[in-house]
Order: sequence, then structure tokens, then C-alpha cells
Amino acid sequence: MLNQINGLHHVTSLASGAQANNDFFTKVLGLRRVKKTVNFDAPHVYHLYYGDERGHPGSVMTYFPFEGAKRGTPGTGEVSVTSFAVPVGTLGAWEARLQDLNITGVTRDERFGQSRLIFRGPDGDVFALVEQDDPRTGWASNGVSSDMAVQGFHSVAMRLHDTGSSAELLQFMGYEEEGTQGSVRRFRMENGNGADVIDLEQIDTNPARQGAGSVHHVAFSVPDKAAQLEVRQALMDTGYDVTPPIDRDYFWAIYFRTPGGVLFEVATDEPGFDRDEAPEHLGEDLKLPTQHAHLRDLLESKYLAPIED
Ligand code: ZN
Repeated sequence: MLNQINGLHHVTSLASGAQANNDFFTKVLGLRRVKKTVNFDAPHVYHLYYGDERGHPGSVMTYFPFEGAKRGTPGTGEVSVTSFAVPVGTLGAWEARLQDLNITGVTRDERFGQSRLIFRGPDGDVFALVEQDDPRTGWASNGVSSDMAVQGFHSVAMRLHDTGSSAELLQFMGYEEEGTQGSVRRFRMENGNGADVIDLEQIDTNPARQGAGSVHHVAFSVPDKAAQLEVRQALMDTGYDVTPPIDRDYFWAIYFRTPGGVLFEVATDEPGFDRDEAPEHLGEDLKLPTQHAHLRDLLESKYLAPIED
């Protein structure tokens, strides 16, 4: 069993519009936009990162907004719910806030003894806020006070045709099975970074088709490149097909497809989002990867409509 992984690093999803996406995460959920850059493989598309003050691993939700993209079709082999942690006793205030802001699909339930508020993002993406005791400090902005601010991820839930092989993989990665509620199995990373929980839900339905509102991949945190290489080797020894480390400017990434169909990434905590911007100005300027820097004028004039904050 591996011991290098600390929990989630980031979750990356697809959207149909940059402005609506930005408004939802900054003005509704009150996260901080910690980076405004572009998709490495499609530089005409933004890559927007939202998180806590510094974009600490375990807090970072990222999006590729393909303008006008069709919505995905939910199904198996994908993340079904992305959950954020909020302080105990704040779900009532959040429920009122989401209703005031005309957010759709707002419902309350309980899972594994924790109160949960479920709601939808601009592309039908399913999110939840979960009350838990959590030492992490959220970013207070846009009417979200520090005593109710989102503290980072609580969990992702994956919807799978069969949870068996993914459960084995999570246990190999260092997660322990904590319990079962209905068709959901809960796994937890002990002594993780706070974003410690993965739920696996077994359901007999068609495979998902990705589009706007779908989660593209889930990234797990390792401290540095040495730990990442150890994880990569161990996964390859187990039979996984893992990419070489790829420089993503703010972290190094390796990717592999899980047996259940979800794309996993293992990302380093270094160098972080302040490598090219002062901490007080994170996310303000358009940052381009070196290989796309020469495209700035074209991208800004033709493809990347300015985002109003
Ligand atoms: Zn990623």
C-alpha cells in the first residue's frame, strides 16, 4: 500500500462558458480565482482555477470552459458529485444564500451521519456542501463570511458499474474503507490534507458521455516529484498505464485511467500557484504557458473574451 498520497489535489471539469463559470465559483460559492490560464492542449480555451487563499492542494476546482459546449450525459464511469466542506452549523445560511441567488436543485440530506446540501452548477454539475469539523481556513469574499466559507473539498463521489476494482485501487493508493450506506462505499485517507473522502456508488446504468458539467478528471496530491515517481512506478508495477510526468506550470502531473473509467491524476504540491504571481494578485492576469506565450495577442483578441470580476 502506498503512503505518498495526501488526499485530493484538484478536480477538473468541463463548462460551457467562462463568465458563468467564474461567477458561480467566485460570486456564489465565494472561492478565490487563483489562476487564469489556458488549456495546454487547446490554448484558445481558458483554464480557470478556484480555491482557497493560496489554492492549497485539496481546495482547487478547475474548469475548461469550452464556449457553447453541449452538456454531458450522466452515467457510470464518472464523478457524480463534487463535495466541499463547510463549518458545522452553516448549511442553513448556505441554503438561504443559494436560494437567494437562484441556484437550482437545492436539497438537503444526510450521508454517513453528515448533513449535506446538494445543488447544481451552471451546466447542471452536481455539487454538495457538507458540514464537518475542519481546521482549514476558507476564503471570505462576495458576501461569504469567514465563519461560513468553503474550506476545501470534502469528497468526490464516483458512479460506477462495479466498485470492486476501484475499491482495490483506492486501498492500494492508501485509502481505508470506512463504511457503507445503501449502494455507496466510503473510503478515507487517514492523516490527509482535509480532502480525504472518496465515495464509490455502484449503479447499473449506461456509461456517461462527457460534456459541459462533467468532471474530466480527479487529481490526488503528493508532496513532490520524488513521491510522484514512486507512485508512478508502483502503479506501473501493478499493471496501470501511466503517463510520464508532465509539467503543468503550477504542479507536475501523471495520468492514468482507472478500471471504473474515471481518469485519475497524481499531482505534486510544488511549485504552487504563487510561482508566477504575487499571493495578493493570484488569478488576476492571464498567464500563458511558455509554449503558447507567442499567441497572446491572437488569444486575447479572438478567443478569450475578458472575464468580468
Ligand atoms: Zn488536473
